[in-house]
Amino acid sequence: MQTLDRKRKLDQNIIRKLYHGVPCKDPTRESFLKRLKTYNVFNWSGKPVDPPQCARQGWEIAEKDVLKCVMCHQFLSVTLPSPSKHLPYKEACSKLRSRLASAHSKFCLYSTDPLPDSVLEIDHLSNMELQDTIQQQLLAFKNIEVLYHITSSKEEVIEIFDWFMETFTVPDINLSSFILVLTGWNFLKDDMLLQCDYCNRKWSIEPYLIQKNTVEKSDSTRPTVDPVGQHQRWCAWRAEERGWKSRLLQLQQLKESRSREKRSRLNSSVCGSLPDNMKAVRKLLNGTL
Ligand SMILES: [Zn+2]
Ligand SMILES: [Zn+2]
Repeated sequence: MQTLDRKRKLDQNIIRKLYHGVPCKDPTRESFLKRLKTYNVFNWSGKPVDPPQCARQGWEIAEKDVLKCVMCHQFLSVTLPSPSKHLPYKEACSKLRSRLASAHSKFCLYSTDPLPDSVLEIDHLSNMELQDTIQQQLLAFKNIEVLYHITSSKEEVIEIFDWFMETFTVPDINLSSFILVLTGWNFLKDDMLLQCDYCNRKWSIEPYLIQKNTVEKSDSTRPTVDPVGQHQRWCAWRAEERGWKSRLLQLQQLKESRSREKRSRLNSSVCGSLPDNMKAVRKLLNGTL
C-alpha cells in the first residue's frame, strides 16, 4: 500500500511537471538544502571548509563545533586551535577536510559517495519552470522599487527585463525587483525581508526602498544595495560562471529561441497565403514535389 501511495505521488508530481510547468522538487537537493540551512554565521565561521562541502558529504550542524551525519548518525568535532598557532592549526584544518569523508561509519553511503558537483550550483530549471518561477516570485514584488547597483551585465539585464515584461503578464514590476529575483532573492512581504533559498541569508529591504509620493532625501545620500554581494561568500548565486549569470544566459537563450519561433511562424503564414502555383514552385525548389 505504501509503495502504491509513493508511486501515485510520483505520478502526480510528473503530471504536474509535464502539464502545468510547476517545478518538481528533487528530494536529494531538497535534503541537501535542509542540511545547509543548519549552518549560520554563529555556528560556522572561520572554518577552512564551506558549509556546502560539508552538507554535500551528509553533515549537518548538531551543535556549535559538532557535525552529525544524517545517514549514519556519526558525530564529528570541528573544534580548531587558534590560527595564531600556525602549525597545529594547519594540521587540524587538513585533518578536518579528510574527516569529512572518513568519519562516517563503514557502510554509510556518504563515506564514498558525496553528492555531485551540481549541488554546488544554483537550481537548474527547464525553460518552462524558469518562466513560471520568475513570474511567481515577481508577484510578491508588486510596486516595490529599491536603489540598487550591480557591477556587471547591466545592459543585458535591462534588455531581458524589457522582453520578459513584454512577453509575460506580470503587472507593476520595477526593474530593481526583477534584478532581485534574477539574483536569487525571494521576498517575504509580511516581514519585508529578502531570503535566499541556498545560503539562507535574510536581510531587510526597507533601508533601500524608494517611497513614492513622499519627500525623500536625494538618491545620492540614500543607501544602495548590491543584490549579488548580499549572499553569503560561499553561496551558489555568487559564483562567477554558474551563479546568477547562468540564469541570465538561460533567459537570453529563451528570448532568442522565442524570436526564432516567431520568425518561422511568420514565414510559414506568408507561404500559406501564396497562390497555389507559387506554392508548387516553392515545393519544386525544395525538392518536395
Ligand atoms: Zn554518514
Ligand atoms: Zn545566497
